[in-house]
Amino acid sequence: MSAGPDLRLTAPGRLSVDEAKPPTAPLGPDEVLVEVDRVTLCGSDQALYDGTYGGPSSYPLRFGHEWAGRVVDTGLGGRELLGQWVTGDCSRWCGDCPRCGTDRNVCARIEKFGLTVDGFSTRLRTVDRRYLYPDRHGLGPGLLALSEFFAVAAQGLHRVAPRPDERILVIGAGALGLASYLLLTGAHGAADVELLEADPVKAAAVAELLPSARVRTEAPEPDAAARSAGGYAALTAAARYDLTVDCSSGADGLATALACAVPRGRVLCFGLRRSAALRTDLLVANALTLVGSIGGTGGFARAQEFLAGHREEAGLLVTHRLPAERAEEAFGLDPRTRIKTQLTFGEDAR
Ligand SMILES: [Zn+2]
Ligand SMILES: [Zn+2]
Repeated sequence: MSAGPDLRLTAPGRLSVDEAKPPTAPLGPDEVLVEVDRVTLCGSDQALYDGTYGGPSSYPLRFGHEWAGRVVDTGLGGRELLGQWVTGDCSRWCGDCPRCGTDRNVCARIEKFGLTVDGFSTRLRTVDRRYLYPDRHGLGPGLLALSEFFAVAAQGLHRVAPRPDERILVIGAGALGLASYLLLTGAHGAADVELLEADPVKAAAVAELLPSARVRTEAPEPDAAARSAGGYAALTAAARYDLTVDCSSGADGLATALACAVPRGRVLCFGLRRSAALRTDLLVANALTLVGSIGGTGGFARAQEFLAGHREEAGLLVTHRLPAERAEEAFGLDPRTRIKTQLTFGEDAR
């Protein structure tokens, strides 16, 4: 009987599919062996496949940092995890450096599972237990494998402290945008949240998926009088929102986020791009606070609590499910009509 598939990206666009093998060396005291049930594809997995990822990365690589699996073996220290469903960090932090003291996602020795070091696109994966989060809410593997990107969104939003009475714009209706939207409305109690998705096909798909969401395809029209007045007035011609959240992958997302924020507003940016024009005139003249955020470490408890209370809505974000051997097909799906794709590694998950 085979253990299951083992997927590696050897170069952009090149995927090898082998048989996963159990580790030959005994597990260290803090190591556990996880039988991966599924990997949820992230925009960064797609970008790694396409060769367009904006952050540090290396090939060959097992991708996959959003996942769920069951602990099937443990070293001496992790016995209580045996048999449990778990998910884990994307950030591989050290826990000892000064930066880890404030935010483990910016650890001085940071590596990223599935980006700079091997991730979880394999049936069997040995991992240190300190990066794991057991399923304490009975989410099951389908929802548990959504924890990481909800944690990324939760962690970023936590840093800009959204208030219920604020007017908020989320830019980009991909998975991170939708997770941010759901957290803003469902966990932060924000009543006035709009989603901006420039692609009309994607906007229509999202409107169908989440009928209560207010989805727009264009940013609010700038005030014509303010714009023609020039000077400082022109710099606030499009300013409407107390908080803007850039979850887009396009180059214009951050520009829109800056232009649409009111003076003294906050701009939260998740996009990792090699280059993006930054309008410092808007940033400075409007006294904006620009917050970049990476990683979900620190946000998993909040994310899983949210998922437990919003199972149905969150589950809608999984639009496709394919056996891991068909990963190439998954990477070829139309990004306008898929939100989250899950690759399954076990026979029983298919
Ligand atoms: Zn991700
Ligand atoms: Zn560290």
